[in-house]
Amino acid sequence: MKPGALNYVRPNSVQEAIASLEEGGMDAKIIAGGQSLVPMLNLRMVSAERLIDIGGIPGFREFSADDREVRLGACITHERIQIGEVTDPSNGLMPKVASAIAYQAVRNRGTIGGSMALADPSADWLTTTAALGATVEWEGPDGKNSCLSEEFVVAAYTTQLGMSDLLTGIRIPRLHPDAKWGTYKLCRKVGEFAHAMAIAIRSPSATRAFLGATEGAPVRLKHTEDVLSTLKEWHAAHASVLSQSMDSDIAESGREFDDVHIWQLRTCLLRSAQMSFGVKPVEPEGL
Ligand SMILES: Cc1cc2nc3c(=O)[nH]c(=O)nc-3n(C[C@H](O)[C@H](O)[C@H](O)COP(=O)(O)OP(=O)(O)OC[C@H]3O[C@@H](n4cnc5c(N)ncnc54)[C@H](O)[C@@H]3O)c2cc1C
Repeated sequence: MKPGALNYVRPNSVQEAIASLEEGGMDAKIIAGGQSLVPMLNLRMVSAERLIDIGGIPGFREFSADDREVRLGACITHERIQIGEVTDPSNGLMPKVASAIAYQAVRNRGTIGGSMALADPSADWLTTTAALGATVEWEGPDGKNSCLSEEFVVAAYTTQLGMSDLLTGIRIPRLHPDAKWGTYKLCRKVGEFAHAMAIAIRSPSATRAFLGATEGAPVRLKHTEDVLSTLKEWHAAHASVLSQSMDSDIAESGREFDDVHIWQLRTCLLRSAQMSFGVKPVEPEGL
């Protein structure tokens, strides 16, 4: 199937894009890489009369870096992150994550801003930017705004963005040079969205652990972070204590998952934790 007739506009500034969004109302949609929007338009799951292509807005394809952080414009593609064309603040975590998003054709055009704005709960960047303590920036009729990535997603496909807001960029603090990370994405075949994922980051400045593909916002595992931060090396016996801490974190989050999903999330967490200690991820015995 193909979409209905569309007007295509390509604004030259954020202000022009916001004005076009306001004017178009419900019938206007931003298009970035088009990798999610175009299939949805083709399948008539989404309708639009006006497509606002933000790819030409100055700065949207650029990045900047200083000693503290790297700022990625909204239209930086997964591919440019994967191949290291943009400065990596994450000791290799972001290129690794990018390399497992979909397949090459999608990575060539899909953007980090489009992925965050869509907020598919299984999207890799939601969990990754949350784990890295990133800040999401946007602009709309009420001016500029920002929040931590872990607060940006409200629910599946729902973010803090208003109808006429435009995600403009993402600021990612540089990981400590000695920080170690592990990431594990469970999917049936390479290039699929995750059924479950986890990221564990052990840094001298902070330990962070998140679950992703949770049918909503990524889940931060604070008890698990406390446990991880006390461990000096990986031992098989740590699996059960981390599993228990994950269960407590999930119980406190108020979120509910079926047994299969819990098993998948636990597997991802334990494998991520092992990787953060430089251990090849294997299923710990007894789970
Ligand atoms: C076959 C396939 C497999 C995939 N597998 C994965 C995967 O494994 N992991 C993963 O994370 N993703 C996956 N994706 C999604 C892919 O990463 C998309 O590129 C991404 O989700 C959307 O980015 P985009 O730039 O293409 O956005 P678009 O498709 O252009 O837009 C997506 C939505 O976000 C809105 N939007 C875009 N940019 C902005 C902005 N700056 N401000 C406000 N709103 C905006 C649009 O209006 C639209 O509603 C897959 C996609 C396909 C087609």
